Amino acid sequence: MSYDLIVIGTGPGGYVAAIRAAQLGLKTAVVEKRKTHGGTCLNVGCIPSKALLHASHMFEDARDHFEGLGIGVSAPKLDLKKMQAFKQEGVDGNTKGVEFLLKKNKIDAFIGTGRIAAVGQVEVTAEDGSNQLLQTKNILIATGSDVTRLPGIEIDEKAVVSSTGALELESVPKRLVVIGAGVIGLELGSVWRRLGAEVTVVEYLDRILPGMDGEIAKNFQRILSKQGFQFKLGAKVTGVQTTSKSATLTFEPAAGGAAETLEADVVLVAIGRVPYTEGLGLEHVGVQKDNRGRVLTDAHFATNVTGIYAIGDVIAGPMLAHKAEDEGVAVAEILAGKAGHVNYDVIPSVVYTFPEVASVGKTEEELKGAGIAYNAGKFPFTANGRAKVNRTTDGFVKILADAATDKVLGVHIIGPEAGNLIHEAAIAMEFGASSEDMARTCHAHPTLAEAVKEAALAVEKRAIHM
Ligand SMILES: Cc1cc2nc3c(=O)[nH]c(=O)nc-3n(C[C@H](O)[C@H](O)[C@H](O)COP(=O)(O)OP(=O)(O)OC[C@H]3O[C@@H](n4cnc5c(N)ncnc54)[C@H](O)[C@@H]3O)c2cc1C
Repeated sequence: MSYDLIVIGTGPGGYVAAIRAAQLGLKTAVVEKRKTHGGTCLNVGCIPSKALLHASHMFEDARDHFEGLGIGVSAPKLDLKKMQAFKQEGVDGNTKGVEFLLKKNKIDAFIGTGRIAAVGQVEVTAEDGSNQLLQTKNILIATGSDVTRLPGIEIDEKAVVSSTGALELESVPKRLVVIGAGVIGLELGSVWRRLGAEVTVVEYLDRILPGMDGEIAKNFQRILSKQGFQFKLGAKVTGVQTTSKSATLTFEPAAGGAAETLEADVVLVAIGRVPYTEGLGLEHVGVQKDNRGRVLTDAHFATNVTGIYAIGDVIAGPMLAHKAEDEGVAVAEILAGKAGHVNYDVIPSVVYTFPEVASVGKTEEELKGAGIAYNAGKFPFTANGRAKVNRTTDGFVKILADAATDKVLGVHIIGPEAGNLIHEAAIAMEFGASSEDMARTCHAHPTLAEAVKEAALAVEKRAIHM
């Protein structure tokens, strides 16, 4: 069997690359070791977490907010088994969708572990141990990432869970301790808090959401604290002791000091993800990795070995599904002789809590660090008519624009629908818009998007509703 392209891994990077390659006429195959396609994102990441975030948000709304809207219901009862089934149905629908798309695009799919036997050769080993050797002009590594472990802390997926285990809990823990105040920890912490858990987040740094705009992170922490989250920041976890029923977490100030303990029913380790290349045979063919285990690529996603490319979580850059997808499209286009390209300056990122947090472009810290003078325009949702009437006024929009040219350099939003609103900014930035362009664009009333327009007006201190 001989192909133009074999993609190893069918996460959002791999399956999208395969579809685009097939669209462009390349004879394409994929190799996936999971039984279902879609990778981390569809099976144990974006999709199941968003299903539980949606369902738990509905539960909390029914319990705490319906009455205020004049909707009288008796206290909602949680049927966690059914909620988990709802989540699984969503996952199955999505993974089957990818299977359908691969078939539709006449892509051969091999289920088994892929190993690069040599340049132009991929060996696929099925679960029953049988294997076959496929020939190809090009190989694309899209093997994604795995959970980062904490040395000395064993993840048993019962008392000490990774994000995968936290998506599968069979009962609501009374006390959940989350190690790591990043996106995944705060999203899954939100799910279980809404369903009744007391949630404490322990974070090594002295802030939450490392890498996001500092003002946004500070405000968001305040909002989460109001919702009941407890935070232990600047705290270094030194160990977790488990019994059959619970866990004791030990931590000490990151700057040094006396150790403290926290009792938990479940501990979620959410300190990040590491690139996954186990068993791929990279050393054998000489593909280079950096000191963080990421496959090294050039600007065209080529590794140092001719005919071997890599994209997604397994290479440098933000570990996000849409970044992997865009790289998948770009690499397929490059292989087909086109000019595939990813604009890394305009990759949105979203925290799907309530309210949501969304960002695109530079943070204030980054602009200050780079010595770029900027103007900031801010507008709170308390002054937005739609947010006000909906009683979802937590948060604000912040637009950062170059002081000399007014070009929009970064947009940061905490608020309802922030994850959708951010794309107005992303499109504007992709087209090189100024804050004035955004401010002069007519926005429908009454919408949450008017807060984006007002923040753009506020860059020149001329917001109307403030
Ligand atoms: C809980 C959670 C929530 C998340 N939520 C979001 C979100 O809301 N938005 C977002 O943008 N990102 C989110 N992410 C991150 C997102 O899942 C990843 O960025 C994305 O999946 C990366 O895509 P990928 O194609 O590079 O790799 P992956 O999705 O990891 O796919 C890699 C695939 O390769 C397969 N594979 C590995 N080695 C081999 C081999 N040797 N042979 C065959 N197959 C192999 C794996 O089985 C896997 O299916 C979340 C992650 C987690 C864990």
